[in-house]
Amino acid sequence: MLQLPVYMDNNATTPCDPRVVEAMLPYFTRYFGNAASRTHAYGWQAEEAVKWAREQVAGLLGAEPGEIIFTSGATEADNLAIKGVFGMYKSKGNHLITVATEHKAVLDTCAHIEKEGGEVTYLPVNAEGFVDLTALEAAIKPSTILIAVMYANNETGIVQPIKEIGTIAKKHGVLFFSDTVQAAGKIPVDVNRDGIDIASVTAHKIYGPKGVGALYVRRKNPRVKLTPQLDGGGHEKGIRSGTLNVPGIVGFGKAAALALEDLATERPRLEKMRNKLEKALLQLGGVQINGAGANRLPHVTNLSFMHAESERLMMGLNKNVALSSGSACTSAFLAPSYVLKAMGLTDEAALASLRFSLGRFTTEEEVDYVIEQVARGVRDMRGVVSI
Ligand code: PLP
Repeated sequence: MLQLPVYMDNNATTPCDPRVVEAMLPYFTRYFGNAASRTHAYGWQAEEAVKWAREQVAGLLGAEPGEIIFTSGATEADNLAIKGVFGMYKSKGNHLITVATEHKAVLDTCAHIEKEGGEVTYLPVNAEGFVDLTALEAAIKPSTILIAVMYANNETGIVQPIKEIGTIAKKHGVLFFSDTVQAAGKIPVDVNRDGIDIASVTAHKIYGPKGVGALYVRRKNPRVKLTPQLDGGGHEKGIRSGTLNVPGIVGFGKAAALALEDLATERPRLEKMRNKLEKALLQLGGVQINGAGANRLPHVTNLSFMHAESERLMMGLNKNVALSSGSACTSAFLAPSYVLKAMGLTDEAALASLRFSLGRFTTEEEVDYVIEQVARGVRDMRGVVSI
Protein backbone atom coordinates (compact mmCIF):
# COMPACT_ATOMS: atom_id res chain seq x y z
CA MET A 1 0.00 0.00 0.00
CA LEU A 2 1.35 3.37 -0.96
CA GLN A 3 1.40 6.04 1.68
CA LEU A 4 -0.12 9.14 0.11
CA PRO A 5 0.95 11.68 -0.81
CA VAL A 6 4.09 10.02 -2.14
CA TYR A 7 7.01 12.09 -0.90
CA MET A 8 9.35 13.19 -3.65
CA ASP A 9 10.72 16.36 -2.10
CA ASN A 10 13.82 15.05 -0.33
CA ASN A 11 15.88 18.11 -1.28
CA ALA A 12 13.57 20.20 0.92
CA THR A 13 13.96 17.86 3.86
CA THR A 14 14.15 14.17 4.60
CA PRO A 15 12.31 12.09 7.20
CA CYS A 16 14.41 11.09 10.17
CA ASP A 17 15.71 7.58 9.76
CA PRO A 18 14.24 5.47 12.62
CA ARG A 19 17.81 4.41 13.49
CA VAL A 20 18.65 8.10 13.96
CA VAL A 21 15.67 8.64 16.27
CA GLU A 22 16.65 5.56 18.27
CA ALA A 23 20.19 6.87 18.69
CA MET A 24 18.89 10.27 19.86
CA LEU A 25 16.28 9.17 22.39
CA PRO A 26 18.53 8.40 25.41
CA TYR A 27 20.05 11.88 25.11
CA PHE A 28 16.74 13.55 25.91
CA THR A 29 16.13 11.65 29.12
CA ARG A 30 18.86 9.38 30.50
CA TYR A 31 21.93 11.27 29.23
CA PHE A 32 20.57 14.79 29.28
CA GLY A 33 23.72 16.51 30.53
CA ASN A 34 25.25 19.72 29.25
CA ALA A 35 28.29 18.79 27.16
CA ALA A 36 30.11 21.75 28.72
CA SER A 37 29.63 20.49 32.32
CA ARG A 38 33.06 19.36 33.42
CA THR A 39 32.29 18.42 37.00
CA HIS A 40 30.10 15.33 36.73
CA ALA A 41 29.26 12.23 34.74
CA TYR A 42 26.19 13.78 33.09
CA GLY A 43 28.42 16.32 31.38
CA TRP A 44 31.08 13.76 30.49
CA GLN A 45 28.52 11.41 28.89
CA ALA A 46 27.14 14.23 26.78
CA GLU A 47 30.63 15.34 25.83
CA GLU A 48 31.56 11.78 24.85
CA ALA A 49 28.48 11.54 22.62
CA VAL A 50 29.29 14.86 20.95
CA LYS A 51 32.86 13.67 20.37
CA TRP A 52 31.55 10.55 18.65
CA ALA A 53 29.15 12.58 16.51
CA ARG A 54 31.89 15.03 15.57
CA GLU A 55 33.96 12.14 14.23
CA GLN A 56 31.05 10.90 12.12
CA VAL A 57 30.28 14.32 10.64
CA ALA A 58 33.99 14.87 9.93
CA GLY A 59 34.04 11.47 8.20
CA LEU A 60 31.26 12.58 5.88
CA LEU A 61 33.50 15.36 4.56
CA GLY A 62 36.91 13.69 4.83
CA ALA A 63 37.80 16.20 7.55
CA GLU A 64 39.34 15.97 11.03
CA PRO A 65 36.93 16.03 14.00
CA GLY A 66 38.63 19.17 15.32
CA GLU A 67 37.60 20.98 12.14
CA ILE A 68 33.84 20.61 12.78
CA ILE A 69 31.86 23.43 14.41
CA PHE A 70 28.27 22.49 15.26
CA THR A 71 25.56 25.03 14.42
CA SER A 72 21.77 25.20 14.29
CA GLY A 73 21.74 24.28 10.60
CA ALA A 74 23.17 25.28 7.27
CA THR A 75 21.63 28.75 7.19
CA GLU A 76 23.63 29.58 10.29
CA ALA A 77 26.70 27.77 8.94
CA ASP A 78 26.53 29.73 5.65
CA ASN A 79 26.20 32.99 7.59
CA LEU A 80 29.09 32.08 9.87
CA ALA A 81 31.32 31.14 6.95
CA ILE A 82 30.80 34.33 4.96
CA LYS A 83 30.42 36.87 7.76
CA GLY A 84 33.15 35.12 9.74
CA VAL A 85 35.66 35.33 6.87
CA PHE A 86 34.71 38.93 6.09
CA GLY A 87 35.09 39.92 9.72
CA MET A 88 38.45 38.21 10.09
CA TYR A 89 40.07 39.11 6.76
CA LYS A 90 38.54 42.45 5.77
CA SER A 91 41.77 44.26 6.56
CA LYS A 92 43.34 42.07 3.85
CA GLY A 93 40.60 42.67 1.30
CA ASN A 94 36.86 43.22 0.96
CA HIS A 95 36.04 41.30 -2.22
CA LEU A 96 34.01 38.09 -2.39
CA ILE A 97 33.10 36.00 -5.42
CA THR A 98 29.96 33.88 -5.60
CA VAL A 99 27.51 32.55 -8.18
CA ALA A 100 24.01 33.68 -9.17
CA THR A 101 22.50 30.24 -8.47
CA GLU A 102 23.60 29.89 -4.84
CA HIS A 103 21.09 29.26 -2.05
CA LYS A 104 19.52 32.34 -0.46
CA ALA A 105 21.45 31.64 2.75
CA VAL A 106 24.58 32.51 0.75
CA LEU A 107 23.18 35.20 -1.57
CA ASP A 108 21.41 37.15 1.15
CA THR A 109 24.45 36.92 3.40
CA CYS A 110 26.56 38.31 0.55
CA ALA A 111 24.04 41.15 0.16
CA HIS A 112 24.49 41.85 3.87
CA ILE A 113 28.26 41.97 3.38
CA GLU A 114 27.79 44.55 0.62
CA LYS A 115 25.93 46.75 3.10
CA GLU A 116 28.91 46.40 5.44
CA GLY A 117 31.31 47.75 2.83
CA GLY A 118 32.15 44.51 1.05
CA GLU A 119 32.24 44.08 -2.71
CA VAL A 120 30.66 40.96 -4.18
CA THR A 121 30.96 39.57 -7.71
CA TYR A 122 28.01 37.38 -8.69
CA LEU A 123 29.15 35.13 -11.52
CA PRO A 124 26.61 33.95 -14.10
CA VAL A 125 26.15 30.30 -15.10
CA ASN A 126 25.76 28.73 -18.54
CA ALA A 127 22.71 26.84 -19.83
CA GLU A 128 23.86 23.73 -17.96
CA GLY A 129 24.12 25.67 -14.71
CA PHE A 130 27.90 25.65 -14.56
CA VAL A 131 30.06 28.52 -13.52
CA ASP A 132 32.72 29.40 -16.11
CA LEU A 133 36.16 28.67 -14.66
CA THR A 134 37.94 31.23 -16.83
CA ALA A 135 35.49 33.92 -15.72
CA LEU A 136 35.95 32.82 -12.12
CA GLU A 137 39.72 33.12 -12.29
CA ALA A 138 39.46 36.46 -14.12
CA ALA A 139 37.23 37.82 -11.34
CA ILE A 140 39.92 37.32 -8.69
CA LYS A 141 41.65 40.54 -7.67
CA PRO A 142 44.21 41.42 -5.01
CA SER A 143 41.35 42.28 -2.64
CA THR A 144 39.56 38.91 -3.06
CA ILE A 145 39.32 37.02 0.23
CA LEU A 146 36.65 34.39 -0.48
CA ILE A 147 35.16 32.32 -3.27
CA ALA A 148 31.76 30.82 -2.34
CA VAL A 149 30.41 28.15 -4.69
CA MET A 150 27.93 25.48 -3.68
CA TYR A 151 28.79 21.84 -4.32
CA ALA A 152 25.41 20.85 -5.78
CA ASN A 153 22.38 22.98 -6.47
CA ASN A 154 19.23 22.35 -4.43
CA GLU A 155 16.82 23.04 -7.31
CA THR A 156 18.53 21.27 -10.19
CA GLY A 157 21.05 18.89 -8.60
CA ILE A 158 23.80 20.31 -10.82
CA VAL A 159 27.24 19.59 -9.37
CA GLN A 160 29.78 22.37 -9.89
CA PRO A 161 33.41 21.63 -10.90
CA ILE A 162 34.45 21.93 -7.27
CA LYS A 163 37.93 20.43 -7.50
CA GLU A 164 38.87 22.82 -10.31
CA ILE A 165 37.52 25.77 -8.32
CA GLY A 166 39.53 24.59 -5.31
CA THR A 167 42.67 24.55 -7.44
CA ILE A 168 42.06 28.08 -8.71
CA ALA A 169 41.39 29.37 -5.19
CA LYS A 170 44.58 27.80 -3.88
CA LYS A 171 46.65 29.13 -6.78
CA HIS A 172 45.56 32.67 -5.89
CA GLY A 173 45.69 32.26 -2.11
CA VAL A 174 41.94 32.87 -1.77
CA LEU A 175 39.77 30.90 0.70
CA PHE A 176 37.19 28.58 -0.81
CA PHE A 177 33.83 28.05 0.88
CA SER A 178 31.37 25.49 -0.44
CA ASP A 179 27.80 24.91 0.73
CA THR A 180 27.83 21.10 0.59
CA VAL A 181 24.32 20.68 2.02
CA GLN A 182 22.83 18.81 -0.94
CA ALA A 183 25.94 16.85 -1.90
CA ALA A 184 27.35 15.53 1.38
CA GLY A 185 26.10 12.02 2.03
CA LYS A 186 24.73 11.74 -1.51
CA ILE A 187 27.95 11.80 -3.55
CA PRO A 188 31.52 11.55 -2.23
CA VAL A 189 32.66 14.88 -0.80
CA ASP A 190 36.25 15.22 0.39
CA VAL A 191 37.44 18.62 1.49
CA ASN A 192 41.09 17.71 0.94
CA ARG A 193 40.65 16.16 -2.50
CA ASP A 194 38.37 19.05 -3.50
CA GLY A 195 40.48 21.85 -2.02
CA ILE A 196 37.65 23.22 0.13
CA ASP A 197 38.60 25.40 3.12
CA ILE A 198 35.15 25.90 4.65
CA ALA A 199 32.01 23.78 4.11
CA SER A 200 28.45 23.85 5.44
CA VAL A 201 26.24 20.80 6.08
CA THR A 202 22.88 20.16 7.70
CA ALA A 203 21.41 17.04 9.29
CA HIS A 204 17.87 17.25 7.96
CA LYS A 205 18.89 16.64 4.35
CA ILE A 206 20.52 13.33 5.27
CA TYR A 207 17.74 11.72 7.35
CA GLY A 208 18.78 13.45 10.54
CA PRO A 209 16.85 15.95 12.70
CA LYS A 210 16.07 19.55 11.78
CA GLY A 211 17.81 22.41 13.53
CA VAL A 212 21.34 21.01 13.61
CA GLY A 213 24.17 21.50 11.16
CA ALA A 214 27.87 22.11 11.03
CA LEU A 215 30.61 24.15 9.50
CA TYR A 216 33.88 22.55 8.48
CA VAL A 217 36.73 25.00 9.06
CA ARG A 218 40.17 23.97 7.76
CA ARG A 219 42.86 23.85 10.41
CA LYS A 220 45.97 23.31 8.28
CA ASN A 221 47.21 24.64 4.93
CA PRO A 222 45.80 27.20 5.49
CA ARG A 223 44.52 27.56 9.05
CA VAL A 224 41.22 29.38 8.59
CA LYS A 225 40.06 31.82 11.23
CA LEU A 226 36.53 33.14 11.55
CA THR A 227 35.03 36.00 13.50
CA PRO A 228 32.33 34.49 15.77
CA GLN A 229 28.80 35.62 15.03
CA LEU A 230 27.42 34.63 18.45
CA ASP A 231 29.10 35.73 21.63
CA GLY A 232 28.71 33.87 24.87
CA GLY A 233 30.17 30.88 26.66
CA GLY A 234 32.88 30.23 24.10
CA HIS A 235 31.61 26.82 22.96
CA GLU A 236 32.96 25.26 19.78
CA LYS A 237 36.40 26.80 20.18
CA GLY A 238 34.85 30.19 20.74
CA ILE A 239 33.54 30.27 17.16
CA ARG A 240 29.94 29.42 18.03
CA SER A 241 28.74 29.98 21.56
CA GLY A 242 25.62 28.29 22.84
CA THR A 243 24.83 25.09 24.74
CA LEU A 244 25.18 22.20 22.34
CA ASN A 245 22.04 20.47 21.10
CA VAL A 246 23.29 17.07 22.24
CA PRO A 247 20.39 14.88 21.03
CA GLY A 248 20.38 16.70 17.70
CA ILE A 249 24.13 16.35 17.33
CA VAL A 250 23.97 12.63 18.16
CA GLY A 251 21.25 12.27 15.51
CA PHE A 252 23.40 14.18 13.03
CA GLY A 253 26.33 11.88 13.80
CA LYS A 254 24.21 8.77 13.30
CA ALA A 255 22.74 10.19 10.08
CA ALA A 256 26.23 10.97 8.76
CA ALA A 257 27.48 7.47 9.57
CA LEU A 258 24.48 5.86 7.86
CA ALA A 259 24.77 8.09 4.79
CA LEU A 260 28.40 7.20 4.36
CA GLU A 261 27.69 3.51 4.85
CA ASP A 262 24.91 3.54 2.23
CA LEU A 263 26.42 5.90 -0.29
CA ALA A 264 27.88 3.30 -2.65
CA THR A 265 24.62 1.34 -2.90
CA GLU A 266 22.15 4.22 -2.70
CA ARG A 267 23.70 6.21 -5.51
CA PRO A 268 23.08 3.66 -8.32
CA ARG A 269 19.69 2.67 -6.87
CA LEU A 270 18.45 6.25 -6.88
CA GLU A 271 20.01 7.07 -10.22
CA LYS A 272 18.26 4.14 -11.85
CA MET A 273 14.86 5.25 -10.51
CA ARG A 274 15.52 8.91 -11.37
CA ASN A 275 16.43 7.93 -14.93
CA LYS A 276 13.31 5.82 -15.23
CA LEU A 277 11.20 8.80 -14.09
CA GLU A 278 12.88 11.12 -16.59
CA LYS A 279 12.60 8.69 -19.47
CA ALA A 280 8.90 8.08 -18.86
CA LEU A 281 7.99 11.74 -18.46
CA LEU A 282 10.03 12.83 -21.49
CA GLN A 283 7.67 10.68 -23.55
CA LEU A 284 4.91 13.18 -22.90
CA GLY A 285 6.69 15.51 -25.33
CA GLY A 286 7.33 19.18 -24.64
CA VAL A 287 9.37 18.24 -21.58
CA GLN A 288 12.91 19.37 -20.92
CA ILE A 289 15.41 18.29 -18.30
CA ASN A 290 16.96 21.42 -16.84
CA GLY A 291 20.71 20.92 -16.77
CA ALA A 292 20.38 17.71 -18.82
CA GLY A 293 24.00 17.65 -19.96
CA ALA A 294 25.45 18.54 -16.59
CA ASN A 295 27.00 16.39 -13.91
CA ARG A 296 24.00 16.03 -11.58
CA LEU A 297 23.11 14.50 -8.23
CA PRO A 298 21.78 10.97 -8.79
CA HIS A 299 18.44 11.49 -7.04
CA VAL A 300 17.31 14.82 -8.46
CA THR A 301 15.68 15.97 -11.65
CA ASN A 302 14.22 19.31 -12.58
CA LEU A 303 11.77 19.13 -15.48
CA SER A 304 9.88 21.80 -17.39
CA PHE A 305 6.53 20.71 -18.79
CA MET A 306 5.62 23.16 -21.52
CA HIS A 307 2.04 24.48 -21.33
CA ALA A 308 1.59 23.12 -17.82
CA GLU A 309 2.24 25.76 -15.20
CA SER A 310 3.81 23.96 -12.28
CA GLU A 311 1.90 25.66 -9.45
CA ARG A 312 -1.41 24.66 -10.98
CA LEU A 313 -0.09 21.22 -11.82
CA MET A 314 1.01 20.71 -8.22
CA MET A 315 -2.29 21.98 -6.88
CA GLY A 316 -4.00 19.22 -8.80
CA LEU A 317 -1.48 16.62 -7.69
CA ASN A 318 -0.75 17.46 -4.10
CA LYS A 319 -3.18 15.00 -2.56
CA ASN A 320 -1.22 12.24 -4.23
CA VAL A 321 2.32 13.49 -4.74
CA ALA A 322 4.49 15.87 -2.68
CA LEU A 323 6.72 17.80 -5.05
CA SER A 324 8.21 21.22 -5.29
CA SER A 325 8.51 23.85 -7.96
CA GLY A 326 11.28 26.36 -8.11
CA SER A 327 8.91 29.26 -8.20
CA ALA A 328 8.29 31.37 -5.14
CA CYS A 329 5.10 33.15 -4.23
CA THR A 330 5.96 36.74 -3.59
CA SER A 331 2.84 38.43 -2.21
CA ALA A 332 0.50 38.66 -5.16
CA PHE A 333 2.33 36.98 -8.00
CA LEU A 334 4.41 33.96 -8.78
CA ALA A 335 8.10 34.60 -9.40
CA PRO A 336 9.98 32.16 -11.59
CA SER A 337 12.98 30.45 -10.04
CA TYR A 338 16.07 32.66 -10.11
CA VAL A 339 18.20 29.53 -10.50
CA LEU A 340 16.43 28.49 -13.70
CA LYS A 341 16.35 32.08 -14.96
CA ALA A 342 20.11 32.30 -14.46
CA MET A 343 20.44 29.21 -16.69
CA GLY A 344 18.63 31.11 -19.44
CA LEU A 345 15.16 29.60 -19.15
CA THR A 346 12.26 31.75 -20.26
CA ASP A 347 9.71 32.77 -17.60
CA GLU A 348 7.28 30.33 -19.14
CA ALA A 349 9.70 27.38 -18.97
CA ALA A 350 10.80 28.31 -15.45
CA LEU A 351 7.19 28.57 -14.27
CA ALA A 352 6.50 25.16 -15.77
CA SER A 353 9.24 23.41 -13.84
CA LEU A 354 8.95 20.75 -11.17
CA ARG A 355 11.69 19.34 -8.97
CA PHE A 356 11.60 15.65 -8.18
CA SER A 357 14.00 14.60 -5.44
CA LEU A 358 14.06 10.93 -4.52
CA GLY A 359 15.43 9.56 -1.29
CA ARG A 360 16.35 6.62 0.90
CA PHE A 361 12.73 5.59 1.39
CA THR A 362 11.62 6.02 -2.24
CA THR A 363 10.46 2.77 -3.81
CA GLU A 364 10.12 1.69 -7.42
CA GLU A 365 6.36 1.44 -6.87
CA GLU A 366 6.27 5.08 -5.78
CA VAL A 367 8.22 6.13 -8.86
CA ASP A 368 5.72 4.34 -11.10
CA TYR A 369 2.84 6.01 -9.28
CA VAL A 370 4.40 9.47 -9.61
CA ILE A 371 5.00 8.94 -13.32
CA GLU A 372 1.35 7.99 -13.81
CA GLN A 373 0.01 10.89 -11.72
CA VAL A 374 2.23 13.56 -13.25
CA ALA A 375 1.63 12.31 -16.79
CA ARG A 376 -2.11 12.45 -16.23
CA GLY A 377 -1.88 15.91 -14.66
CA VAL A 378 0.16 17.30 -17.54
CA ARG A 379 -2.11 15.80 -20.16
CA ASP A 380 -5.19 17.20 -18.41
CA MET A 381 -3.69 20.66 -18.18
CA ARG A 382 -2.57 20.65 -21.77
CA GLY A 383 -6.02 19.51 -22.77
CA VAL A 384 -7.43 22.61 -21.09
CA VAL A 385 -4.81 24.83 -22.72
CA SER A 386 -5.51 23.61 -26.22
CA ILE A 387 -9.31 24.17 -26.09
N1 PLP B 1 21.95 25.51 1.59
C1 PLP B 1 21.29 24.71 0.73
C2 PLP B 1 21.90 24.38 -0.58
C3 PLP B 1 20.04 24.20 1.07
O1 PLP B 1 19.38 23.43 0.22
C4 PLP B 1 19.49 24.54 2.33
C5 PLP B 1 18.15 24.03 2.74
O2 PLP B 1 17.15 24.36 2.17
C6 PLP B 1 20.22 25.38 3.19
C7 PLP B 1 21.44 25.83 2.79
C8 PLP B 1 19.68 25.78 4.54
O3 PLP B 1 19.81 24.74 5.45
P1 PLP B 1 19.03 24.75 6.87
O4 PLP B 1 17.63 24.35 6.54
O5 PLP B 1 19.75 23.73 7.69
O6 PLP B 1 19.14 26.10 7.45
